[in-house]
Amino acid sequence: MSDRIFLFDIDGTIMSTHGAGRSSMAAAFSDVFGRADACTHFSFSGMTDVAIFRLGLAAIGLPFKNEHAHSLLMSYLVHLEKELHQAAPSDIVLHPGIGEAIAMCHREGAVGLGTGNVKAGAKLKLQRVALWEPFSFGGFGDDSELRAELLEIGAQRGAQQRGIARSACDVMVIGDTPKDVAAAQAIGARCLAVETGHCSRDSLAGADLIVEDLQAPAALQFLLTPASARPKI
Ligand SMILES: [Mg+2]
Repeated sequence: MSDRIFLFDIDGTIMSTHGAGRSSMAAAFSDVFGRADACTHFSFSGMTDVAIFRLGLAAIGLPFKNEHAHSLLMSYLVHLEKELHQAAPSDIVLHPGIGEAIAMCHREGAVGLGTGNVKAGAKLKLQRVALWEPFSFGGFGDDSELRAELLEIGAQRGAQQRGIARSACDVMVIGDTPKDVAAAQAIGARCLAVETGHCSRDSLAGADLIVEDLQAPAALQFLLTPASARPKI
């Protein structure tokens, strides 16, 4: 049984929705608190949904409360489904090489998600590009507000699915933001960073490999290479 686990980020890594997530958040804050402007002053890049709720609430002078987060989440999901349905096909972008990379990872080990999206939101986005089925487990934004914690939960689920100890797993995170890189490092995972999101190559320094997109031969080679095969420094 393979001991390799792959955790894919969604936004900017697998796909981009050109604002469907952001406009759905704005609509949720508008519905619940009458403040569509709550999230206009910060980037969502690499953030978990709950962390976005927290910053948005703070921006409009409200404390974070579970009931606030729940109301926002329910509204967000309704708007997200509508926005994704109404989006022009040209606004829903699957990033280059992603299909081949996922297929390759399936031949190497367990393939899951490591995303700040709540699970229901992740499913809506990936169903839009017919890519929900390849991911049988993951760590999600409703598992933890902290990215490192949700990645660790995803890794544990992958290990459980494979029937192996988490400590024996070679975990690789595929993401597009400095937050993916830092969270991967925090759980002892390697990180393949892609430049298909909004982050510069410099900001991704610290990743084990940075590539323009997953079509790069170096990316596919890296995905194929277990941690134990790396040269010792
Ligand atoms: Mg991302």
